[in-house]
Amino acid sequence: MIDYTAITAQSMAMAELKLDSPLQFIKGVGPRKAEVLASHGMTTVRDLLFYFPRGYLDRTTILPIKDLRVDEIATFIGKVRAHGQLYGGKRRRYEAILGDETGDIQLVFFDGAQYWKNFFKKNMILAATGRVSYYHGKQLIHPDLERLEDDSDKLIHSGRIIPVYPQTAELNQVGLSSKAIRYLTNLIFANLTEKLADFLPEEIRSQFDLMEIFPAIEKIHYPDDRQAIDFCRKRLAFDELLTFQYLVFRRKERKSKIRKEHNFEKPGKLTEKFYSSLPFELTSGQTEVISEIFSDLQSKQPMSRLLQGDVGCGKTVVAVVSAVYAAENKLQTAFMAPTEILAEQHFSNWQENLRNLGISAALVTSTTKDAEKKEIAAKCAEGSIRVLFGTHALIYDYIEFSRLGLAIIDEQHRFGVEQRSKLYAKGNNPDLLLMTATPIPRTLALTLYGDLEISTISTMPPGRKPIRTVQRESTSRDKVYEYVRDEVKKGGQAYIIYPLIERSDKMELRSVEESFKELAADVFSDCRTAIVHGRVKPATREKTLKQFKNGKIDILFATTVIEVGIDNPNASIMIIEHAERFGLSQLHQLRGRVGRGQKESIVVAIVYPTTSDISGKRLEYFVSTSDGFKISEADLDLRGPGEVFGTRQSGLPEFRIANIARDQKLIEMSSKLLSRLFDTKNKLSKDNDYINIKNHLEEISQTKEIHLTGG
Ligand code: ADP
Ligand code: MG
Repeated sequence: MIDYTAITAQSMAMAELKLDSPLQFIKGVGPRKAEVLASHGMTTVRDLLFYFPRGYLDRTTILPIKDLRVDEIATFIGKVRAHGQLYGGKRRRYEAILGDETGDIQLVFFDGAQYWKNFFKKNMILAATGRVSYYHGKQLIHPDLERLEDDSDKLIHSGRIIPVYPQTAELNQVGLSSKAIRYLTNLIFANLTEKLADFLPEEIRSQFDLMEIFPAIEKIHYPDDRQAIDFCRKRLAFDELLTFQYLVFRRKERKSKIRKEHNFEKPGKLTEKFYSSLPFELTSGQTEVISEIFSDLQSKQPMSRLLQGDVGCGKTVVAVVSAVYAAENKLQTAFMAPTEILAEQHFSNWQENLRNLGISAALVTSTTKDAEKKEIAAKCAEGSIRVLFGTHALIYDYIEFSRLGLAIIDEQHRFGVEQRSKLYAKGNNPDLLLMTATPIPRTLALTLYGDLEISTISTMPPGRKPIRTVQRESTSRDKVYEYVRDEVKKGGQAYIIYPLIERSDKMELRSVEESFKELAADVFSDCRTAIVHGRVKPATREKTLKQFKNGKIDILFATTVIEVGIDNPNASIMIIEHAERFGLSQLHQLRGRVGRGQKESIVVAIVYPTTSDISGKRLEYFVSTSDGFKISEADLDLRGPGEVFGTRQSGLPEFRIANIARDQKLIEMSSKLLSRLFDTKNKLSKDNDYINIKNHLEEISQTKEIHLTGG
């Protein structure tokens, strides 16, 4: 048992605490602090127990001040020897001197003098973390500071691990620093007269090698050693993922009870005719997913399927054949794409094929003229338009369908949950097909898209040549450009991609407008060049892209607007300027614009000096692998799912302790348990233990609903 009284010198005599005791009545809290705690989701003792440390201070992570090395990030503990405003030197600053038995160091703050003046007190004990620099001696500029109890440096040196709690400005304002929260958690553990009951029985815990809940909570706050933290984390993250996935499973179960009103007969002549009108043979991967989709369409339950496959594997034709099949069954299809370029391209590529089969198609985007929009809306509402292509414009209220049977969303991760749901709501439980070229690692798909079936195309159309990807320093830019010019002379076509449209004062980056002006007049003066980006008028953009596709333009200067949808098999060179600025999945998407024809393709990532380790790793991955699955897994690992999927957009909750990129094993474990709970055909699900777990999860999830896929 931990002797909590050893941690602070404070006497902790107080009334017995229960899990449901309000925090407000704990000594030292009071109404003002209680209010702020409540705004952070904490009103009872139980709530605070689930406010986990964001990190820990211990002997292994703390250095004596004399051992601090310049340029390294370090944590150390010291007493405030002196502090005050300094005016001499280059800039006005607030300084504090922190010292331990081995030496002193300066902490420097260039702003917030008033705040720091109030913050520092002589002899206060602080843990500081930051990068050590040198200016008339070693110093830390704007370090991370953590106030410690008077004797915690001794405790730490005796081997204790001190929790550091997540901080917000509001908490700090009312004096709820990490130290103050530490005081509260101490007090709670010392005076709590009941333990949290474990909803997982012993047998299941031992199956999954999980700790009991209460000790896990106790030790995540006050661990005996570092290893203990991992084991506690495992249990707490498991619970968090289980609770979250419960919602996904429940949603799937509810969806499975829905019956659609429309009906698909076996595929007939029209679908046959469409197949034979194609200029190519379908790949085995395409044929497989088509049969998966068709069998979903024929089922009584609405389809919710995610079609994934690397850039260029041929997802569009799969979507179009599904639309033809829907038309054959007198049903309408909405086909939504994230950019105008892409929507236009889908429409212009397929309009004729569809017309030849007597299927009328139309396109709506934000630039469609009002009169035309009205006409399309009217035809769509009466049902004479069978396939409606478009961008977000499709989800506006004026678009109505008479019999929407199939909703297709291309590059679905570019849309928010709400947008996907809105399209879905245009029909009466339509079948839903989502498509993405950013494949989701299997375990993550279980969490994010647990209520979807997944189809994967893992074959590429024949004749694709592998793309060579290389990385070059910015200093060899000129050579790279000469290479491009030489290739253009031999009939090649190239993309040059930039991170910005125009020059920005904030960032020292090359922009597409500036470089276009400069290079088109210089090294590319005898090449045919053009520029496209998000601010070029759609009509001009379309014209430029058409000319590029028809070989009338040699070099296309562009931003990432060309990331999706541009299809020019003769373009075999891509130069990416400032490759260090792009995300891994984005680089991979960009790369997908080349390698579409008979020629060997090359991508040159031009890299400018950067201090970020992450961008270095990103580029290493990019150059060394062309496998979209590996890329997206690495991206997830480097950036985290919040960044990759845009947490708010994806509808994914913020996890306190679980990390859906790193905790894939735990996700699998909790799905395994949930499959047993939800598998009503299995007698295990009738087991009392399982019923209890399900009841517990239902109880804590009653008011919650999860909606990640839009279907
Ligand atoms: P993505 O999966 O990235 O959306 P697309 O559907 O845009 O890929 O297809 C990429 C290119 O491959 C298009 O030009 C398309 O016509 C072509 N394509 C698709 N399927 C085949 C096939 N089976 N054989 C040959 N070319 C194909
Ligand atoms: Mg596509």
